[in-house]
Amino acid sequence: MRRVLEIGCLATAGYLVVSTVAAGVESAWSRAASPAGGPAMAIGGYSSGCVQGAKELPQDSKRYTIMKPERRRYYGHPFLVDFVLQLSASMEEKQLGPLAVGDLGQPRGGPAPNGHASHQNGLDVDLWFSPAAPGAEQQSMVDFSTQKPSTHWSPRVPALLELAAKDARVARIFVNAVIKKELCEQPSNDRAWLTKLRPWWGHDEHFHVRLACPVDSPDCQAQPPLPAGDGCEELAWWLSPEAEKDRAKGVEAYGKRVGAQPKLPQSCSKLVR
Ligand SMILES: [Zn+2]
Repeated sequence: MRRVLEIGCLATAGYLVVSTVAAGVESAWSRAASPAGGPAMAIGGYSSGCVQGAKELPQDSKRYTIMKPERRRYYGHPFLVDFVLQLSASMEEKQLGPLAVGDLGQPRGGPAPNGHASHQNGLDVDLWFSPAAPGAEQQSMVDFSTQKPSTHWSPRVPALLELAAKDARVARIFVNAVIKKELCEQPSNDRAWLTKLRPWWGHDEHFHVRLACPVDSPDCQAQPPLPAGDGCEELAWWLSPEAEKDRAKGVEAYGKRVGAQPKLPQSCSKLVR
């Protein structure tokens, strides 16, 4: 079975091959210090785009912590920033906070020199499964030796994913197949949201939320619609030896795209010099 490369970010868990991280190059995109003015617009694709009128996720909040502020990837389309603000408020309300926030995007989006091939058009954010704490490291929710949840798993994990997936702005959430399997096995009639959880290698310490193209961003390139159903039947492949064989190829192919300079839509060129 061939997997369409629809994801996003390079997890640095031991499960993925860290040596495939491309060195990448600094560019006008990574040097941009502030958002581009003008109406908010996601332009181009998630892995070949940019964002105009991005908003900064405020750094000071008791509901969430930006875990790597030195990367300065806390900008996104206003929908993305609002999504993080609302999710962190909902988590606090359920006494499940605070939220640990990984990368959003650069002030004007575009390719980053490391870490991701996507996160370019202001609609992608990485969120950690473990709660925010000073100096905390990410914890894996998966025990790969048994393909079961790890000792770090708690009811906070499904609660967080369900809240995020039920947000109408969210198109896809990338998670490890073991995590989705655990949710698929919970008896529930409320299963429609599971379809947004897309299995991918890694993504056992953090999950990647991808918003749909906003309707007033005509140059935003959407991904194909999700197949019908909850997608739970796909997991057998993901947890099979065939998937393990494809993992190295998938990770290598992705690693080559990290730090690359893809061709961006013409309308991105006016956002940087
Ligand atoms: Zn990501």
